[in-house]
Amino acid sequence: MSASSETADEAPVMMSHTETNDVTSGSSDVTKTSSDITCEVLVIGAGISGLTAAYEIQKRNPKTELCLVEAKDRVGGRTLATQIRVRQGQTETFDLGGQWVGSTQTDIMEMLDELGLEVYPQYIQGTKHMQLGGDSIRRYSSTIPNLGSWWGLVQLQLFIWKVDRLAKKCSPLSPCSDRTIRDLDGVSVEAFARQNISNTAALEAIISACRVILGCDASRVSVVHFLAYTHAAGGLNALLEATPGTAQEFKVKGGTQQISELLADRIGRHRIHLRHPVTNITQGNGDVTVTTGDGVVFHCKYVISGVPPNQLARVTFSPPLSPVRRELISNMPMGHLIKFVVTFEETFWRAAGMSGEVVSNGGPSTVPGCTHGPLCIVYDATSDKGSPALVGFIAGSTSVEWESRTKDEREKAVISSLASFFGKKTEKYIEYQEKVWAEEPFTGGCPVCYTTPGLMHTFPALREKHGRVFFCGTELASRWCGFMSGAVQTGRQVALEVLHVLQPDVTLTPS
Ligand SMILES: Cc1cc2nc3c(=O)[nH]c(=O)nc-3n(C[C@H](O)[C@H](O)[C@H](O)COP(=O)(O)OP(=O)(O)OC[C@H]3O[C@@H](n4cnc5c(N)ncnc54)[C@H](O)[C@@H]3O)c2cc1C
Repeated sequence: MSASSETADEAPVMMSHTETNDVTSGSSDVTKTSSDITCEVLVIGAGISGLTAAYEIQKRNPKTELCLVEAKDRVGGRTLATQIRVRQGQTETFDLGGQWVGSTQTDIMEMLDELGLEVYPQYIQGTKHMQLGGDSIRRYSSTIPNLGSWWGLVQLQLFIWKVDRLAKKCSPLSPCSDRTIRDLDGVSVEAFARQNISNTAALEAIISACRVILGCDASRVSVVHFLAYTHAAGGLNALLEATPGTAQEFKVKGGTQQISELLADRIGRHRIHLRHPVTNITQGNGDVTVTTGDGVVFHCKYVISGVPPNQLARVTFSPPLSPVRRELISNMPMGHLIKFVVTFEETFWRAAGMSGEVVSNGGPSTVPGCTHGPLCIVYDATSDKGSPALVGFIAGSTSVEWESRTKDEREKAVISSLASFFGKKTEKYIEYQEKVWAEEPFTGGCPVCYTTPGLMHTFPALREKHGRVFFCGTELASRWCGFMSGAVQTGRQVALEVLHVLQPDVTLTPS
C-alpha cells in the first residue's frame, strides 16, 4: 500500500493512563483489513537512528520483512538540507539542522564512510568574539576565551575541571550510580554553576554554553543530565570548542540530510511509509499492532521506535509504558533553537583576520518583548565549494522570546547584531534563511530532549524494551548522546538486539 499522497496533519495523540504494565496481558482488538500492512519488524521514525536500525537489519538479514513508518513527509528528522542563494546567482545546500561531526564521533564517521560522504574542516583561523558579562565585545585569537579578567578565566577553568571530574562518574547508562552524583539530581545547571562561580562573565559562559548545547536555559535542566552529556562527549571542552576532536570539527559536504536519504535508498523507498504519524502501539497474542493518525494499521512481530522521548510521550501504549518511564518522558522537553544561515558575496570577515566565531549573551535589544539581542553563537559556514556564509543560533529562552516575532523582525535583528561584530559589510548579504525548530511537527524543538531536575535516577528506563517494542534515538546513546553519532550508535545497537530475538542461534558482532 502506498501512502505518499496523504496529508501530514499532526495527529491528536494522548498519554495512556491504563493501570497495568503487564505486556503479556494486552490483547490486540484491532481487526485486520485488506488495507492493513503486515511485516516482521516495523521501525517507527525516519531520523538517523530509525534508518540506521532498519539499514543494519536489512544488511545483516536481507530476508527480514521490514517496514518503516514516519510522521513527516520527508526522512531526516532533526537533519534538514535547504537550498540558499549564493554568489554568482547560484544556489547551494546548507544545513538547517544537525551539521557538525568530529573525529572522536566514531559511529557517525564510520557511517559517513560507509555511505561515501566526505567531510571538510570547520574554519577556525583568526580572531574570535566574546560578549559575556556585559554588553561590551571582546576579541581573542587563542583557544583561551577572553572573559575580561584572569579571575574569570581561573574560575571557568576550575569549573570545567570539576564538571569533567564529576562527569567521569556519570555514564548516561547509569547516571546516578555514584552517591555524589545522585545527590546532585535535584540541582539545576545554573544553581550548580552559581555555587562554584562568582565571576559574572564566567557564569554567563556556562549559562550560554548550556543554552547552545541543549537549547534550554541552565535553570531548567538537571546538572546530572549535563554531566551525563559531558561524559558521553568525553569532556566539556569537546562540547564547547571547534578544534580537532570536538563536536564542531568537520562539516559534511552536501549536508547531513544525505545520510538519511542514502540510508532510505539502501533500505528501499517502497518500505518507507511517510506521512503516517503513529498514535497507538498495542501488544498481545504474540504480535504488535501499530495504528497511525490516518487510520492505517501495521501488524508486526517486533517494533523499533526511533521516536524522541518528547514525541513518544504522545503515543498511547497498550499495555502502557511503566509509570516511571511515563514520568520521565513527560519531563524531557526538547530545547529551543532557531538556526539561521546568511550568505554573502565575500568572506570579508576572513579577509579582516576574523574566524567568524561569536559567543554572546545576545547583547542589548530594542525589540519589545525580547530582553536580549538574538545572537547566542555564530560560526563561519562557508561551503566546501567556497560560497561565503555565516551560521548562527538563537537559543533557549532567547529563542522562545524571538519565536514570537516575525521572520522579518528576526532577520533584521540578526543582521544588525552580526554587523556589530563584523562591520557594515554584513548588511550586504545575499540571503537569510532560518528554521524555528519549536514549530517543526513531530519534533517540537531541538537539538535534543533534556531532563528537568530530579529525574536522572530514572534515566535508564529510557532504554528498557517494552515487551516486543525496542527503542533507539540519540537521547538513549552512551557515546555522543544528543548528536547524530549517538543516533547511529543506538540504531546499530537496537538492530543487533532485534536480530538476536529473530535469530537467537546466530552470533552477531557489532559492525
Ligand atoms: C538545529 C540543530 C542543530 C544540530 N546540530 C548538530 C550538530 O551540529 N551535530 C550533531 O551531531 N547533531 C546536531 N543536532 C542533533 C542531531 O540532528 C540529532 O541528534 C539527530 O539527528 C537525532 O536523530 P534521531 O534519529 O535520534 O531523532 P530524529 O532525527 O528526531 O528522528 C525521529 C523521527 O521520528 C519521527 N516521529 C516523531 N513522532 C512520530 C510518530 N508519532 N510517528 C512516526 N514518526 C514519528 C520524527 O518525525 C523524526 O523523523 C542538531 C539538531 C538540530 C535540530
